[in-house]
Amino acid sequence: MTHGSKPSSLATLLVHGGRDAALPDEAVASPLYQSVNFHHPVGTAEGMRYPRYGNNPNAELVQRRLALLEGAEAGLVLASGQGATACALLALLRAGDHLLASSWLYGGTHQLIAKELPTMGIATTLVDPMETRAWRKRLRKTTRAIFVETPVNPTGRVLDLAPITALAKELGLALVVDSTFATPVAFRPLEHGADVVIHSATKFLNGHHDVVAGAVLGSAPYIEEVRQKMIVWGQAPDPFACWLLERGLKTLDVRIKRATENAMRLALWCATRPELSAVLYPGLPDHPDHEIALATLDGMGAMMAIVHRDGGDAMSRVIRRLALITHAPSLGGVDTLVSEPRFSSHAHLSASERAALGIPDGFLRISVGIEDPDDLIADLDQALRG
Ligand code: PLP
Repeated sequence: MTHGSKPSSLATLLVHGGRDAALPDEAVASPLYQSVNFHHPVGTAEGMRYPRYGNNPNAELVQRRLALLEGAEAGLVLASGQGATACALLALLRAGDHLLASSWLYGGTHQLIAKELPTMGIATTLVDPMETRAWRKRLRKTTRAIFVETPVNPTGRVLDLAPITALAKELGLALVVDSTFATPVAFRPLEHGADVVIHSATKFLNGHHDVVAGAVLGSAPYIEEVRQKMIVWGQAPDPFACWLLERGLKTLDVRIKRATENAMRLALWCATRPELSAVLYPGLPDHPDHEIALATLDGMGAMMAIVHRDGGDAMSRVIRRLALITHAPSLGGVDTLVSEPRFSSHAHLSASERAALGIPDGFLRISVGIEDPDDLIADLDQALRG
């Protein structure tokens, strides 16, 4: 077993971690500092606060909490997950450098790495993450970092970080992991040898469909470099987003546990349905990564996918009939949402490119929420029957 040492206090850290002992403690809920301006002590650059610098008190609190949860020296909250990925990579790479990345990525990350970074003189190569030897083969003298996402959006594939970490350590490369799907409740990449963790905090960390935010966790000097990028590229979060995120984090452990139980129930039920040609959930024994998920994750998570045996139009008809479950592009919140990647995160790829990534037409991603699982099953049942 290669589980990390899950802090026994994780659920407590989610509620209390990073609170500033210097703040008045009469207020149980954290005060909101919805202010752009703060008194600047005269005659010094020290102590100057300005939200774009990432030092609003609400940002600082949630940054400390996320760093504790991931076991990182420092953390930074940014305006979006996409902004977090962009600033994290800009802080690592310069023109002339090369980035190796998994080809199994969220669509926006794929566009950033495959299209945007090369326009800035940063070379990038996408690698099939399951071909362990491909990573080494694609190395260049200028390779500086490796980027992976696990579990993968939208297929839920789970990567074994061990061989990738070993390569990164051997060659002194930075390993960056987008851990949005796992959250620190299920997986803490730094415990597995990664150097940098990225989250779209829009998803599970906030969990209530009402915040756009991102986070980067890592060493203190590195996070300071990311902060400098955030400042100049204007990627800082609003204080209210940080306040909502801190509030959302308090229930992360219970939300993930409940949604994971629901996902397992739903996946087992879907596996009995003749309308579906595939049910993808790491908790099912026939999932290709079931063993690695068992060995490395603390829980199988709330993300699953199903494939309609009759293809895309049939799945679209199912979606139109859903009454409780909402068709919406995001994920990771208390409401169950479904999304067809061919019309959302992976719309920029052709059908054959998507199929090669394991996303055939008829593929539906399900972000399982915390509703009563019987109600979720009843809704999907009537929608599948038509
Ligand atoms: N990483 C993953 C795995 C995602 O699913 C997303 C968004 O869906 C992002 C990053 C980007 O996050 P945001 O939408 O908060 O910019």
